[in-house]
Amino acid sequence: MTIAATRRGFLTAAGAWATASLAGPRAVAAQGDAKVLLLGTKGGPRVNKGRANPSNLVVAANRSCVVDCGYGVTRQLIEAGVEAHEVRSILITHNHSDHVLELGPLVYTAWAGGLREPVDIWGPPPIKRIVASFLDSMAYDIDIRIEDEGRPDLRKLAQVHEFEVPGDGSVIVFERDSLKVSATKVRHPPLSHAYAYRFDTPGRSIVLSGDTTYSPELIALARGADVLVHEVMHLEGLDRLLSRVPNAPSLRKHLIESHTTTEQLGRVAAEAGVRTLVLSHFVPGDDPSITDAMWSEGVRKNFFGEIVVGRDLMMI
Ligand SMILES: [Zn+2]
Ligand SMILES: [Zn+2]
Repeated sequence: MTIAATRRGFLTAAGAWATASLAGPRAVAAQGDAKVLLLGTKGGPRVNKGRANPSNLVVAANRSCVVDCGYGVTRQLIEAGVEAHEVRSILITHNHSDHVLELGPLVYTAWAGGLREPVDIWGPPPIKRIVASFLDSMAYDIDIRIEDEGRPDLRKLAQVHEFEVPGDGSVIVFERDSLKVSATKVRHPPLSHAYAYRFDTPGRSIVLSGDTTYSPELIALARGADVLVHEVMHLEGLDRLLSRVPNAPSLRKHLIESHTTTEQLGRVAAEAGVRTLVLSHFVPGDDPSITDAMWSEGVRKNFFGEIVVGRDLMMI
C-alpha cells in the first residue's frame, strides 16, 4: 500500500499518533492478526465538529473490510491512509442512515479512483434496494463516464449480498484465506434486521456490535473474543442532549429501547468474557463535558478487563 501524505495515520490505543508512512493499517495487521480502525465514533446521523459518524475498518488476512458507512467514511479512510479503491469488502450492520448514508458515495468514489474489480457489499434487507437506488440516481453520470472515459460499468462491480440471519444463532458471512466473518442478529427495534459481526483470524478475534440494546445473541457471538467494539449511551448526557432537540420524547424512547447504557455494557462484556472492550458509537457523541473517565465509570461496575474509550482514527 502506498501512502503519500505525512499527516495521514492513526491513533494507537495508548493515544500515540502513528504516521501511515511508518506502517499503514494493513501492514500493521499483516502478521495473521486482525486489527480494527475506528473511523467514526459518534452515534446518530447529526453531523458536528468532533467525532465523525459511524464507520470502522477491519484489516485482516491482507483484506480491508469497511463496517458501516456513516457520513464521512471516505474522508476518514483517506485520513487513515487507505484509498477508497483499496476496499473490496463492505459490511453493513443495519440500514439506519448513520450507517449507510455514504455507502453509495464510497463505492462511487472507489470507481472514480480507478476501481476495476468487484466490491462485495453484505448487509440486511433492504440493502439491495438502497444500493440500486443510489446507482440509479447516478446513472446519467455513470453512463457518460463509461462512454467518455472508458470505465467499467459500476453497476456490475457493486456486488450486493443481501442476507437474513435467523433470530437464534449466527451465520458465516464469508471465509477467505485465514479470515472468517460471522454475523448474528441483535436487538435494535424498531428495525427487524440489525446485525453484529465477528472477525476471526488465527491470531485474533474482533467483534463489532453494530447498534443494539442488551442482547444475549451478541453476548453469544462475542464469547471469548479478544476485542469487542460496542456501542454505548450515557444516560445523564443523553438527557442533556435531549433538552436541545425538538423531538425529545420519541427520541428518548427509541434510544432507551434500542441502545446500551454504560452499566448494561459492562454486563455484556463481562458475560461474553472479552479481553478488551472498546467503546464506540457514543450517544451523545458531541458532549465534551463527558470525559473518558465518565464513559468508563458505569462500565467498570461490571467489567474488569481492559476498557478503551474509542476515538476517531484509533487502531486496536
Ligand atoms: Zn447508529
Ligand atoms: Zn441504528
